[in-house]
Amino acid sequence: MDSRDIALVRANFRTVSYSAHSRGKLTNAFYGQLFGRDPALRQLFPPAMDVTRHRFILALQFILDSLDTPGAAEEFLEQLARDHRKYGVDAKHYRSAADALLIALRAHTGEALWTDPLDTAWTRFTDLIANSMIAGAEADDLPAHWEATVVGQHQLLDDLALVRLRADAPIPYESGQYLPIRIPQTPNMWRYLSPAIPANDGGELEFHVRKVRGGWVSPSIVNDTKPGDRWLIGAPLGGLHVDYECGRNVLMIGSGTGIAPLRAQVMEMARRGVNPQVHLFLGGVYPRDLYDLENMWRLSLINPWLSVIPVAEHQNNPWWHPEPPPETPPGMHRRLTGSIGHIVTSFGSWAEHQVQLAGSPEMVYTTTQTLIAAGVPEERISHDPLW
Ligand SMILES: Cc1cc2nc3c(=O)[nH]c(=O)nc-3n(C[C@H](O)[C@H](O)[C@H](O)COP(=O)(O)OP(=O)(O)OC[C@H]3O[C@@H](n4cnc5c(N)ncnc54)[C@H](O)[C@@H]3O)c2cc1C
Repeated sequence: MDSRDIALVRANFRTVSYSAHSRGKLTNAFYGQLFGRDPALRQLFPPAMDVTRHRFILALQFILDSLDTPGAAEEFLEQLARDHRKYGVDAKHYRSAADALLIALRAHTGEALWTDPLDTAWTRFTDLIANSMIAGAEADDLPAHWEATVVGQHQLLDDLALVRLRADAPIPYESGQYLPIRIPQTPNMWRYLSPAIPANDGGELEFHVRKVRGGWVSPSIVNDTKPGDRWLIGAPLGGLHVDYECGRNVLMIGSGTGIAPLRAQVMEMARRGVNPQVHLFLGGVYPRDLYDLENMWRLSLINPWLSVIPVAEHQNNPWWHPEPPPETPPGMHRRLTGSIGHIVTSFGSWAEHQVQLAGSPEMVYTTTQTLIAAGVPEERISHDPLW
């Protein structure tokens, strides 16, 4: 796709997805087309489609945003195809899905505004989707999923649990990637979690899970997980990684359980001899949210390339958790208070660093904007898709 195509599809997508209502209409039109062409496909999706629909829009947005970076959209789509194998979707379904998307976009835009150049641009876009996803589905020789047994669950905070599992066979993920998981308590629902430790031959996994109020899956993980539970784990996804070739130092910013993929990477780096300098800002809303600070600080004591800086939005814990904020051990950087993006940028320019962000979609979005405003080139900032 050339820059004109990219500009056309982005502008049209902004128009057809500008409100929750219009996004709902677009996703209804897409899934209506898709299931109309192949009714058997409906059985492969969960009964409640709200999360699937939401992710569909976010995935489209992520692909559109990635089009300027050569190969980025293709890589994401190939991973997405591998991810969809857990539903039993395979290569032949992707052409059908791409055609359904084109028809849905055309219907939703309206014939009067559907010009020939727009048709060409969206056709190229949907071809990119179909071809990349077919390539991803066909190239993959990993199992569609693995099984793992819960071996321990520890409540770190009242709404946050650490879950350890042992997979029946090692899962070949890279530190920084995330995994689709399915738990026995909610059998038809897949969610993504980021391993907080590097992959290992023993198949050991560690996840840090925050309970989302009103969520389907995370409250079950935090409240009901017990040793012996069997989880399904899908193929690894995501591309957060340290580029050792580019010669740039690393800025990592993680908030809440978003520290997990960063933690796995610095643990992996600790096994290497030589590393770039890493500044790891650990954030949370309240001081109590910095649940893993002490572990990370200990890691920094024996790895001089690693600096850990704690940040909380509030000085004190909330009144419903009246315990005093933990003391920072002597030698650790004192905890800073404020918005993590502003604190990071107050340290100086990060324009020459490679940057990774992980946390809630809101934190990732606002911090990205703050970094860009402070001069960090957008193409050096990496984060997972915000879904
Ligand atoms: C790449 C990636 C990696 C992730 N890694 C982790 C991890 O390591 N640990 C972890 O705890 N979670 C992680 N998540 C989030 C996780 O996948 C689920 O989205 C989350 O646990 C909520 O699932 P749920 O079924 O409980 O809520 P859902 O039933 O999916 O959602 C219920 C409601 O809560 C809202 N909601 C969903 N997620 C959030 C959120 N994070 N904050 C506020 N509101 C939300 C939804 O919009 C919806 O309105 C990750 C997500 C992604 C995309």
